[in-house]
Amino acid sequence: MATGSSVERALNDIVSLCKRRGFVFPSSELYGGFAASWDYGPLGVELKNLIKRLWWDEMVTSREDVVGMDCAVTMNPRIWEASGHVESFHDPMVDCKTCGQRFRADNLSEEYCPKSPSKKVSECGGELTPARNFNLMFKIHWGPTEEEDSISYLRPETCQPLFTNFRNITTATRMRVPFGIAQIGKAFRNEITTKAFLFRQREFEQMEMEFFCHPSEAQEWYEKWREVRLNWHKSLGLNPARLRTAPHPPDKLAHYAKAALDIEYQFPMGWGEIEGVHNRGDWDLSRHGQFSGKSLEYRDDRTNERFIPYCVETSAGLDRTFLALMSDAYDQDMAPNDKGEMEKRDVLRFRPRVAPITVAVFPLSRKPDLEELARKIESDLRRVYNHRSMYDETGSIGKRYRRQDEIGTPLCITVDFDTLEDHAVTIRNRDTMQQIRVSMETVATAVADQIRDMEHSFDRG
Ligand code: ATP
Repeated sequence: MATGSSVERALNDIVSLCKRRGFVFPSSELYGGFAASWDYGPLGVELKNLIKRLWWDEMVTSREDVVGMDCAVTMNPRIWEASGHVESFHDPMVDCKTCGQRFRADNLSEEYCPKSPSKKVSECGGELTPARNFNLMFKIHWGPTEEEDSISYLRPETCQPLFTNFRNITTATRMRVPFGIAQIGKAFRNEITTKAFLFRQREFEQMEMEFFCHPSEAQEWYEKWREVRLNWHKSLGLNPARLRTAPHPPDKLAHYAKAALDIEYQFPMGWGEIEGVHNRGDWDLSRHGQFSGKSLEYRDDRTNERFIPYCVETSAGLDRTFLALMSDAYDQDMAPNDKGEMEKRDVLRFRPRVAPITVAVFPLSRKPDLEELARKIESDLRRVYNHRSMYDETGSIGKRYRRQDEIGTPLCITVDFDTLEDHAVTIRNRDTMQQIRVSMETVATAVADQIRDMEHSFDRG
């Protein structure tokens, strides 16, 4: 069984690679850091953008029945009263008088004791205070005064403005029920305990879609969306054996939910939710109708029937998807160094579609003839692979391969002295480490073939 320290070791390898190679840095590091806050570096932001683009393509651009929005982070605080967050967005919290740390009271058998890392908090014997409720919303003052009536909140989820814009969307667009509204954006929760790198943060990003439908069709849509969402995670290249769905038992359903499930991924520290799919019934539109005094009832043009649409929600965490991809892709094996000796290699085995860099091109030495050819190949490929190519001329070839392995680049191309004679280059594959020699004229086709083969190997599982 994994202990606190072995889990930490597995995760620490990923955290350390993320920092070493510019995926994720601790926020405010210069000032000693800031709890549970992370900055995405040059490669991290590329990976994040790829995930967002793939989500947006799947959920918005490829569909006729979903539109996108980008809404304000801060909203009229009445929205959070209507949604139930002011009243009940609480986690039960306990303080440990022995170690001075604060824990979620419902999670004591999951969390490791900071003083005895091999033990869970429930069994370490620390003296805990009685549980009390803690509201997870960050309060802010909106405007120049700090009065009671200027209090608002940073949104703890991105979905609420999608409900409050329901009427705007049906009026301004031709969308008719059933249809969805989607957005990607930041959310903020004052989590009691933060842990496991990007998994539980106080500032994070969500990719949410609210799908409005007739009440009689909600269960069917819930099942359809569950499949769409699970398949999307698989399409990123995540190992299907490390993905599962966990339905919420009826007695554990949130007050608004008619049915709900989590899509979970098996992280180094265990199974954890990466996305929720919920049938929220008519809770949201009804409550916003009541609290605003403006009914959000919908009239079907064809049947003249009036009803409050039900809503099926898909709510994915961008940072947790990022962490799942890093955990899934991270591997260690043995590879030859420049002297032909085998040594340990860190490699990210990303599916090519999520690799921040698709192909890297190196001149063997800094000889101008070689540099010129390498730069030409790189700039031609750059156009084909949406700028996901890289030119690198520093360090030995072995070191350059290792750097690309660590960032998950599927293919590297080397221009060497023979290239000047035979007009051929070497393509080296990240996973098989095999090298093939191809003529410069056919390099683009050879790269495309290998990328396609690597993609297919993920489809086959
Ligand atoms: P948990 O039970 O882990 O706290 P949740 O059920 O509160 O999660 P939801 O409210 O369903 O989460 O939010 C949808 C998604 O947003 C989650 O599946 C997760 O990917 C992401 N998410 C929620 N809270 C956080 C957080 N503190 N840090 C990073 N991502 C988060």
